[in-house]
Amino acid sequence: MAVDPMKRVPVKEQNPQVRAHNFDEVCLGYDMEEAKAEASRCLDCKNPKCVGGCPVGIDIPGFIRELKSGNVNEAFSVISEYSALPAVCGRVCPQETQCEKYCIRGIKGEPVSIGKLERFTADYAREHGISLDKAAKKNGKKVAVIGAGPAGLTCAGELAKAGCDVTIYEALHKAGGVLVYGIPEFRLPKDKVVAYEVENVKKLGVTIKTDYVIGKSASVDDLMKEEGYDAVFIGSGAGLPRFMGIPGELACGVFSANEYLTRSNLMKGYDDNYDTVMHPGKNVVVVGGGNVAMDAARTALRLGAKVTIVYRRGEEELPARREEVGHAKEEGIVFDLLRNPVEILEDENGWVRGIRIIKMELGEPDDSGRRRPVPIEGSEYEIECDTVIMALGTSPNPLIASTTEGLETNRHGCLTANEETGETTKKGIFAGGDAVTGAATVILAMGAGKKAAKGILEYLGVQ
Ligand SMILES: Cc1cc2nc3c(=O)[nH]c(=O)nc-3n(C[C@H](O)[C@H](O)[C@H](O)COP(=O)(O)OP(=O)(O)OC[C@H]3O[C@@H](n4cnc5c(N)ncnc54)[C@H](O)[C@@H]3O)c2cc1C
Ligand code: SF4
Repeated sequence: MAVDPMKRVPVKEQNPQVRAHNFDEVCLGYDMEEAKAEASRCLDCKNPKCVGGCPVGIDIPGFIRELKSGNVNEAFSVISEYSALPAVCGRVCPQETQCEKYCIRGIKGEPVSIGKLERFTADYAREHGISLDKAAKKNGKKVAVIGAGPAGLTCAGELAKAGCDVTIYEALHKAGGVLVYGIPEFRLPKDKVVAYEVENVKKLGVTIKTDYVIGKSASVDDLMKEEGYDAVFIGSGAGLPRFMGIPGELACGVFSANEYLTRSNLMKGYDDNYDTVMHPGKNVVVVGGGNVAMDAARTALRLGAKVTIVYRRGEEELPARREEVGHAKEEGIVFDLLRNPVEILEDENGWVRGIRIIKMELGEPDDSGRRRPVPIEGSEYEIECDTVIMALGTSPNPLIASTTEGLETNRHGCLTANEETGETTKKGIFAGGDAVTGAATVILAMGAGKKAAKGILEYLGVQ
């Protein structure tokens, strides 16, 4: 296959007009020939900047070198040393701000498609039944992990590899955290990819108990005192949605993005074969400009709605991944930028009938360094809609902190934990991922889970 070393090998995607009506994956990934061609663009740098940009430090030139020669088993073996969820990360990591941002090939041409190559390697391994890790010899230590998201799964996997007896307690009926309840099927297939990678963690000897809410079914102290765990890792995420506090927000037809996405992804509310009904909406306004807003908007579109995204800053400031914004536009989602809702309008039965919006302009930079959106007086207007989805960010649920004495949180409700070891303010209790940082990314949660596993092993005196 002829390759222009300056340009990426394009990846196949579902046609936008077709995919706007189905939940199948948008990106179809590379085949072997395309993956080898893209791998051939890597310069195998002596000082590979890409590695420094990866929060878990994957030996990127190492796995790409193997791919170039078609040794996918070896490529998979290299990645697996660093990541338990490579097919997930290859799909959802913001590579453009991490490894690919620093790729030396990107100085004069387009960076190597590291994420797509990682995805190819992991998919190939799955499709060809390649698995590497086996359950380790037991060391007699017992650790409980709270939450089966990327942080909890990674921490549990690392501890099991070191011989600990690990049980994950998960509140929902399925393991995966945001990977199963938040990120939609068209970006991250649930059974094919997430369930498979969760199964790989179980193969290491990890037990997962679902429908088990720590703070209700049992407390953190119960785990330590009554269940005899030597240490506990808290990876409970940041699932508590924020709202704007504007009039009309309690109307029927107003959702948090988390609720809307959970009803669709996890509860299959759109599928007549399930008893869990949902209100998909015909004319939907999504408020926010991050990945969560894009996911909610693209889900509503696939459920048959006309969708508008309302965001208070401009195109440049949209926090969502460029790829997601591009996909949303291609599929026909309307972006109403430099706009902010001031009121949700209700009909006589308490259902949403519209939204009142004010125009914004950008002023001086705020604490985050981004220019502050300022309302333009007298610019208010109304648009009709029957559903409003708020995608304004989330924070950690206070349940665990409020039921565990000695566990400190900061003013945002995030658990206080040492960045390097995951140690919290309570002896034997460790934490990481969104529960500590607030809403962040899959790979950062995985990195925190890995560091905490190391911290736990040191605490337990296991090397
Ligand atoms: C819609 C959406 C789209 C996103 N898109 C991307 C993306 O494209 N790329 C990216 O990198 N990141 C993305 N993110 C962010 C990313 O998914 C999170 O940063 C990541 O999942 C955090 O991992 P975690 O393990 O800390 O928490 P979570 O994934 O939230 O997992 C926490 C788990 O703990 C469980 N839990 C909570 N409380 C309890 C309790 N009391 N007892 C037992 N279990 C409990 C929860 O049910 C959950 O399963 C997205 C987030 C959302 C919501
Ligand atoms: S920086 Fe880019 S070109 Fe260099 S090793 Fe990493 S992926 Fe290859």
